[in-house]
Order: sequence, then C-alpha cells, then structure tokens
Amino acid sequence: MIDFSLTQEQLLLQKTARDFAESEIKPIAKIIDESNDPNIIPWDFCQGVFRKGADLGFTSLLLPQEYGGMGGKCIDLVLVQEELGVADVSIACSYFNLTASMSLFLTRAGTEEQRKRMLSSVSSSEPHLFSVAESEPNVASSDLFCPAPDPQIGMKTFACSDGDRYVLNGNKSGLITNAGIADAYFIMARTSLDKPMRESMSMFYVPADTPGLKFGKRTQMIGWKPSHHTEIYLDNVRVSAENLIGQEGQAGALLMLLPEVSIGLAASHVGLARAAYEYALNYAKQRVSWGRPIIEHQAVALKLAEMMVNTQAARLMVWDAAIAADTDPQLAATVKAPAAKTFAVDVAIKNAQTAVEILGGSGITKEYQTGKFLNDAWIGYSCDFTREILRLNLVNFI
Ligand SMILES: Cc1cc2nc3c(=O)[nH]c(=O)nc-3n(C[C@H](O)[C@H](O)[C@H](O)COP(=O)(O)OP(=O)(O)OC[C@H]3O[C@@H](n4cnc5c(N)ncnc54)[C@H](O)[C@@H]3O)c2cc1C
Repeated sequence: MIDFSLTQEQLLLQKTARDFAESEIKPIAKIIDESNDPNIIPWDFCQGVFRKGADLGFTSLLLPQEYGGMGGKCIDLVLVQEELGVADVSIACSYFNLTASMSLFLTRAGTEEQRKRMLSSVSSSEPHLFSVAESEPNVASSDLFCPAPDPQIGMKTFACSDGDRYVLNGNKSGLITNAGIADAYFIMARTSLDKPMRESMSMFYVPADTPGLKFGKRTQMIGWKPSHHTEIYLDNVRVSAENLIGQEGQAGALLMLLPEVSIGLAASHVGLARAAYEYALNYAKQRVSWGRPIIEHQAVALKLAEMMVNTQAARLMVWDAAIAADTDPQLAATVKAPAAKTFAVDVAIKNAQTAVEILGGSGITKEYQTGKFLNDAWIGYSCDFTREILRLNLVNFI
C-alpha cells in the first residue's frame, strides 16, 4: 500500500522549515532582490541565514547520526527544500541543498578517514559551505553525457599525479555555485587526456585556502540574485592524494549515484511553483473587474486550477523520486530524479508565466513578485543540466 501521510516528526520538520523560510529567508531575499547595487555580495546577507538553517539541521539532514547529522531520509530533504523554495529558490538550492547533498556524497563515496576529516564541520556551529565544479568556460557541460569515446570531447582541467599529490590546472565556468565563498570545493579534473572524459574524470576535495585556487568576479544572472556564482582558476593547485574521492576516473559514476542533488532541486522548484500559484491566487481574490473579483471569471479560475494541479503533480513526482532514492538509488538517479527535476522546473516556469498573466499589467512591474518568479524559474532550466540533456539521457534507462 502507498501512504502519502507524513509522520508527526515530518510535519514538525515541515513547519520548522516553513517558519524559518518566512521569517529568515524571505526578508533577506527581498533586500537582495530589491538592491540595485551591482557590487552587492549576497553571501554577506545570507551567511547568517545559512548558519541558522544549519543549526536547525537543514545542512546535515541526510548525514548519518554517527557523523553528527540528523540521519534523515530523502523525503525529509524534500519537505524542507519545498518550504525553503517558496521563500527563495536560489537560497534553497545553492546554500542548503548543495551542502546537504554533498555531505551525503562524502558518506557514500569517501573513505572512513575522509568522512571523519571532511564532515566534522558540517554539523558544527560554523558549518561548511560546499561547491561542486565540473563546468568549464569553453566546453559544453552537456558533454558530460556524451556517449562518443573521443578523448578530445569535454573537460580540459587536468590533475597530474606527482608522488603523493596531484597538481590541478585549468578553469571552471562562471556558473559554479558558491565559488569564491565556499569553504571546500569538489573539483572535477581529468586524470588522463587519452581516455574518454567519462572514464577519466576524477573528483578532488579542495579546501578553500589551498594555494593556487583563484576566483573571478561574481557572475550577474537574470534571477537567483541571492546566490553567488563565479569562475574558478586552478593554477598549480596541489592537493594530497588523500583528497581524491573514490578512484581515478570515477567522478561521473559517483555523482550519478547522488540523486538527492536533483531531487532537492526539484523540491525547491515545487516550492517556487507553489509560491507563484499562491501569489496569483491571492491577487485574483482581490482584483475586481466587471464588478467582481477576477477569480470569479472562468478564464482566470481555470488558470489557477491548472497551476494547483501541476504543482501537485510535480510534488508527487518529487516524493516518488525521494522514496526511490532510499529504496532503489539506481532507478532514482537514472530515471526518477531527472524526470522529477525537469518536470518540476517546467511547472515552475509555467506557473510563473501564468502568474504574470493573472496579474495583468501589474505582473510585469517590479512592484510585484511575478518577474522574480519568472526569472528565478528560468534559471532552473540549465542548473544541474538542461531539460533536453537530462531527458535524452533518461531515455537510455526506460
Ligand atoms: C544556476 C546555475 C548553477 C550552476 N551551478 C553549477 C555548479 O555548481 N557546478 C557546475 O559545474 N556547473 C554549474 N552550472 C552549469 C550547468 O551545469 C550548465 O550550465 C548546464 O549543464 C548547461 O551547460 P552549458 O551551459 O555548457 O550549455 P551547453 O551544454 O552548451 O548546451 C547549450 C544548449 O544546447 C543543448 N544541447 C547541448 N548538447 C546537446 C545534445 N547532445 N543534444 C541535444 N541538445 C543539446 C542544451 O540542452 C542547451 O539547450 C550551473 C548552471 C546554472 C544555470
């Protein structure tokens, strides 16, 4: 039997996340969104929020209790991420989802020594912010999924083995989430340029203060204003061989077994879809035309019903993927997580667009939030790979 009811603990977790999102995330996101200062550093505002959220366990949700975590399941992550996504999808995804998921990654892929060394700070009072760097400026990120065995295709950053160390050289794209502000980086580099990218990508844990690790200027994006993205330059970055996660050439395979990143992203976009729906619903109850609230016009009512139905459909896909992450991680990673992520982002985009329509002329003004919803939702399209690439890859497994 399938039971979608939540336990008392899950309901409490959901409420805690909802209250936190409303009281802590929303006001900070508003300040950053409304700022016209191109030099604003969102992390200066978000750092305190991240720490408070970490204190509530949102970054260590998936971490087993033996490492100081909450020992939660993927469904717990999903409940939290939806609530955070209602307040601001970029804070939800960049700061909380990435750190919570990469902590889990270390417990799955790291050695016992690495787990102890790298995870000690996740649940501490000064929590670690993580960043994952794969994309490169002049290389299509979609190449990660290229089936052709041509070594020329894809990533160029190279990690040269040098005794008990690796020396990393190369550049990562301006879209690396948390680059320049993170405490530690999971950097992907080729350990052979003669083998296809898929077989030669390796993952290195690089602390932020490692010499040779440099960052560019913060990338300006159309949305996700509270987040921080920039280029990474690796100039003879020396890391101990003990910081290689897994074996050489395993990075792609290891990350494919971390469906939680996409599922958390998807849940945050369900939150965004819900925010756009609730915003439009509220407006439609207030705005009067032809002598009655516009919600009483069927053309508007139908749009609202469709927004609600699509949000619920996306939520069910995300919950389904979350359950699979704990019971059948392979199925979750190859099919259910990418299906849920692409669907949830599409619903967020559609709901944001419909919200603009329901608000009429007000929808395109900065006074209302509909423009933010739309710009934020579009960013989800290419974050964590594009809809087309994820679906093309998914077809290989159905
Ligand atoms: C908000 C955000 C955060 C991000 N964070 C990170 C991060 O933390 N770390 C990181 O490494 N990267 C990050 N990225 C980069 C992201 O993974 C890439 O932008 C994404 O995978 C798309 O790659 P690309 O920009 O190189 O587009 P391309 O790969 O150049 O694709 C361009 C277009 O062509 C299409 N396309 C390409 N190849 C094919 C094909 N074979 N068949 C059909 N269509 C194809 C794509 O669907 C897309 O529409 C982030 C991106 C965003 C937007």
